[in-house]
Amino acid sequence: MEPVMHHVRQRVLHRLHRTRILPKRNHSGCAEQAAAPPSTQSRRTKPPLLVSRLYQPSNLRDLGQDGRLPGEMTCKSQRLMQQAGLIHPSNPGCYYYLPATVRSMEKLVRVIDQEMHGIGGQKLDMPSLCSADLWKTSQRWDLMGNELFRLKDRHGADYCLGPTHEEAVTTLVAHQATLSYRQFPLLLYQITRKFRDEPKPRFGLLRGREFYMKDMYSFDVSEEAAYETYESVCQAYARLFTRLGLRCIQVQADTGNIGGKLSHEFQLPADIGEDRLLVCGNCSFSANIETLSSDKRDCPQCKTGTLVESKGIEVGHTFYLGQKYSHIFKATFSNSQNKPGVAEMGCFGLGVTRILAAAIEVMSTEEGIRWPGLIAPYQVCVLPPKKGSKEDAGAVLAEELIHTLGETLPGLRGEVVLDDRTQMTIGKRLKDANRLGYPYVVVVAQGALEETPRFEVICQQTGETMFLSKDGLLDLLGKVETV
Ligand SMILES: [Zn+2]
Repeated sequence: MEPVMHHVRQRVLHRLHRTRILPKRNHSGCAEQAAAPPSTQSRRTKPPLLVSRLYQPSNLRDLGQDGRLPGEMTCKSQRLMQQAGLIHPSNPGCYYYLPATVRSMEKLVRVIDQEMHGIGGQKLDMPSLCSADLWKTSQRWDLMGNELFRLKDRHGADYCLGPTHEEAVTTLVAHQATLSYRQFPLLLYQITRKFRDEPKPRFGLLRGREFYMKDMYSFDVSEEAAYETYESVCQAYARLFTRLGLRCIQVQADTGNIGGKLSHEFQLPADIGEDRLLVCGNCSFSANIETLSSDKRDCPQCKTGTLVESKGIEVGHTFYLGQKYSHIFKATFSNSQNKPGVAEMGCFGLGVTRILAAAIEVMSTEEGIRWPGLIAPYQVCVLPPKKGSKEDAGAVLAEELIHTLGETLPGLRGEVVLDDRTQMTIGKRLKDANRLGYPYVVVVAQGALEETPRFEVICQQTGETMFLSKDGLLDLLGKVETV
């Protein structure tokens, strides 16, 4: 292989592995790789990430004069996220997503991408600015009412800011004159900003007017094939929530203004949830109360169980659409007999920002954020001793430890922060770390200076405190899954 090309290839491979597009594997089997000197690029050690430099504008303690933060606090996740400098309110239903939130969201997007790619999904990106013509064709221009953000361009043409993209994606697919049944199931999805003119935006990121959503659209040759696709997407959703450590229930739902024949919601049980669910204690049946007559409490599936009401936050929604949109927009394909057929469609939403806030809502304590470990903004926070204290020498050990972590645990690169605010006591910084919810907090103090150094490790998910040797610590952190 030509040396320059080889170099480029290695860089690309390295990047792909880092972003986990390719599975992790050892390249030592490759002779060229083994002969090449180790890439200096990846070996270079960056200076540690310093808490004092992270942009978290509330700075944890900079509350208003009355000790409260601006904006109406309507739920736990909103309060905790604002206090921790994760989000900042701008105008009603809109927030600044601050750097730690963006890190977490990018991770969540990577997990979603992995699951969607796993079932054959292909990612695209459609305009947010949608022409009214398409929405008038589907009659949703009128049906959506005040929820749709509408605007006019300089020529007087009507547009809306897309809350969902059935019209757009179906038109796109219809434009391909030579679409073959061999390309089916066709699963197209995007993760983009969506807009909805909520009458009463509240609960922070849980009900905003501008939010991120994953919306996927499926095209199939037959009703039977479309149901199979529907099922595979539901299974991918279940895997996603399992990986995030979230208990999510799939309930039968109303099809609402999206239309179609079959629909499910994915709900996280939570007291502040705005959806009322009925769950059977005896079998797997569960449904949104909207789909049942309100006085009915006998399970329609097993007939013996009683339905119990609970509240949930809707984080995902799936619809079997049939030919509703493909018929209107003429999304046809040629079938195995080379005859034209109308595609059977489904659409599948996941609220990206909502999953983030809902996870914080259901996992956190009143005092501190708890993240699904996989998508925590940073995995580890290292706390050196207070400056001028008798353990001051621990500061060097803390930096050494971060260096070692970077060298030996590549999965944790960029995931370890050093709380360098050493003018503060360890206790105060521990309190902040608790509020921010780093999955692992490592205190480098007295124990680390002893002949057999011991590090105090607080596992925030379980609340457990351990005293570990350096090897023990590396063992523990080596098991941390990152994305
Ligand atoms: Zn039942």
